[in-house]
Amino acid sequence: MLSETQQTAATLSRRTFLKGLTGTAAGIGLSQIFNPKLISAMTKGLETHPVLWIQGQGCTGCSVSLLNSVEPTIKKILLEIISLQYHPTIMASEGETALENMYRVAKEYKGKFSLAVEGAIPMAADGKYCISGEMNHKEITMLQMTKELGEMAGSVLAIGSCAAYGGIPAAKGNLTEATGVQGVFKKFGIKTPVVNIPGCPSHPDWIVGSIAHLLTKGIPEVDENGRPLLFFGENIHENCPYLEYFDKDIFSATFTQKKGCRMELGCKGPDVNADCFRRRWNNGLNWCVENAVCIGCVEPGFPDAFSPFYEKA
Ligand code: SF4
Ligand code: SF4
Repeated sequence: MLSETQQTAATLSRRTFLKGLTGTAAGIGLSQIFNPKLISAMTKGLETHPVLWIQGQGCTGCSVSLLNSVEPTIKKILLEIISLQYHPTIMASEGETALENMYRVAKEYKGKFSLAVEGAIPMAADGKYCISGEMNHKEITMLQMTKELGEMAGSVLAIGSCAAYGGIPAAKGNLTEATGVQGVFKKFGIKTPVVNIPGCPSHPDWIVGSIAHLLTKGIPEVDENGRPLLFFGENIHENCPYLEYFDKDIFSATFTQKKGCRMELGCKGPDVNADCFRRRWNNGLNWCVENAVCIGCVEPGFPDAFSPFYEKA
């Protein structure tokens, strides 16, 4: 039982979180979370809506990106916002004990929990290119885990471009037949709804915001590539601070030439939808186009469709 002081602290920190979520940008569409009914729904969701996070073919960059969340802090996210019951990188538990708990939670919350998938899923060799665990001396492939948990989940979040569309593991060659979650579900007839939160890596606000939306209002509205419109509904080029230079045919010849559109340097902004131009990265410090170019990391077909990165499309 929480003391009065602890209850006040918990309420304040939740308010700070909500303020942070909604304060980043008026356009993210989460401002209604201030509504008391939705705050109460979120609290209820915490108790009834666990998240299981599994990892396949990836670099763990999306987990690192989530750990870099500044407002709210990762501590707040893990202790007060998301009931994360399994995460191979950050959980204290390990081995069979952790896996047993994961499957226990999946059974107990069947149809209610959310499965977060990070990394692509290799389909070749019956999934043997990625072993995600072992129970009773039997290997469990990422493919098997994705199918089993995906069928039991109420919703799936495909976090990062690898889980969403195959990403770098699915680039030219692709001997392992790396595939995104929807590709696996299509092949095996799994109907659980999937929300793609691509990016290489995915922005922490996109991950936390999408989970908050799930807890409070259900599955967010998505575009034709399965991405929440809240974060992927706007074109980078059309909203770019360098658009005025593009309109005047002024192009940067080098990365240090700040007054000029970056298209000649390889910027793929016109073909990319994401709110990086407003949200920015590293706690709002900077974003790709300010230092280099947009390489289309949130789009299906990345990286091949946008290579070579530093040549004009
Ligand atoms: S820098 Fe890129 S996104 Fe910005 S105006 Fe030029 S081409 Fe468009
Ligand atoms: S600006 Fe382009 S490359 Fe950079 S994170 Fe956004 S979508 Fe990805």
